[in-house]
Amino acid sequence: MGIKIEKKKIKEKKVRISHKKMDRIKGLACKECKREYPAEAKHVCEFCFGPLEVNYNYDAIKLTKEKIKNGPLSIWRYKELLPVETEDLVDLQAGFTPLIEAKNLAKILGLKKLWLKNDTVNPTFSFKDRVVSVALSKAREFGYKTVACASTGNLANSVAAHAANAGLEAFIFIPYDLERGKIINSAVYEPNLVGVKGSYDDVNRLCSEIASEYDWAFVNINIRPYYSEGSKTLGYETVEQLGWRTPDHVIIPVASGSMLTKIYKAFEEFKSLGLIKDNKVKISGAQAEGCSPIAAAFKSEKNIIKPVKPKTLAKSLAIGNPADGYYALKTVQKTGGFFEEVTDAEIVNGIKLLASSEGIFAETAGGVTIAVLKKLVDEGKIKPEEEIVAYITGIGLKTLEAVEGSVELPRIIDSTLKSFKQNVLKEVK
Ligand SMILES: *Cc1c(COP(=O)(O)O)cnc(C)c1O
Ligand SMILES: [Zn+2]
Repeated sequence: MGIKIEKKKIKEKKVRISHKKMDRIKGLACKECKREYPAEAKHVCEFCFGPLEVNYNYDAIKLTKEKIKNGPLSIWRYKELLPVETEDLVDLQAGFTPLIEAKNLAKILGLKKLWLKNDTVNPTFSFKDRVVSVALSKAREFGYKTVACASTGNLANSVAAHAANAGLEAFIFIPYDLERGKIINSAVYEPNLVGVKGSYDDVNRLCSEIASEYDWAFVNINIRPYYSEGSKTLGYETVEQLGWRTPDHVIIPVASGSMLTKIYKAFEEFKSLGLIKDNKVKISGAQAEGCSPIAAAFKSEKNIIKPVKPKTLAKSLAIGNPADGYYALKTVQKTGGFFEEVTDAEIVNGIKLLASSEGIFAETAGGVTIAVLKKLVDEGKIKPEEEIVAYITGIGLKTLEAVEGSVELPRIIDSTLKSFKQNVLKEVK
């Protein structure tokens, strides 16, 4: 590969931005013991090993609807609420994706109002572009030259693309047996792409070891507190696109659980900043049966998340030991939502139902979301009059193998009118 590898020694040279009293970003704080840290590339509390989160000074944030409306048509219209100070953004224009009213699907499911947040139209066709744009902007602000990630596929695509755009060196670690579409979609940006013999959880553990030896910005390890904030933009956009209010109920696909907690955080922030009057949203989480540690904990008495060995079609959600699982569970319980899981067959049906009713081709995670939505309606846990937003977080073109065997392939005919009439029209009728 011939690149110069920066070893850990130089770690401390990273610019330490000192924060003043009225600065928007105070630093980091432990989610458990609340101990505060400066805004550095750090993700775990030294005292209790709790996860660190960005600590904002909300009094210093003067955000109005007008100000947001005049911003760019991307996640960066909410920059005041993102943990990035530089103007030198790593930006492929992620976000501000359509919120589409799904009248056909609503009718089929027996719902009054259903919206789809269509994040398949992002620069690398998944919601991960939101988190990566924030993470790489921050990494560059910190002075890193090399970025890295452990990924179930979509994160790999997004880090590879944004690093190419930013001129950053990238090391991308994925399970070797991902879908072809996800592998090629990373390789084309020419990162250092590494296929690891193991599950995502094995890849992640390896990356923690690598991160302790090399001074790289691992977007979902040492940069994770900043990275994860990017998911809040899904919540902000939903509120803005609905005309400054929250829906009654949202359905969110869950892997690590980070996105789910951040969408809720976004609603709460908008409430506390006075941009919406109230937030009574119910948050429900969607998992695949072959990897549903959080849904299992939700349904058990004890609420303990037991790590699993994933075996599911929904590889983008195949995290057996979810980093934010506990917080995702708490969020769902606090808001009165549900966790539900669906089989591989239901996932495929979910993809096909969404595509045939609304014209949106989602990847397996979208199949999980739609199938869980259907299941919650069938179980009576979602009421017909509830206004729902379902998050469609990635595109189907990357996971073609999921539906390949269950769609009708073209009828092959000769290039004559006769052949068309004989072979096609006769059957169609
Ligand atoms: C990563 C991913 C998710 C889950 O995100 P978490 O924040 O890890 O829960 C959902 N959908 C798609 C398409 C993803 O790539
Ligand atoms: Zn702590």
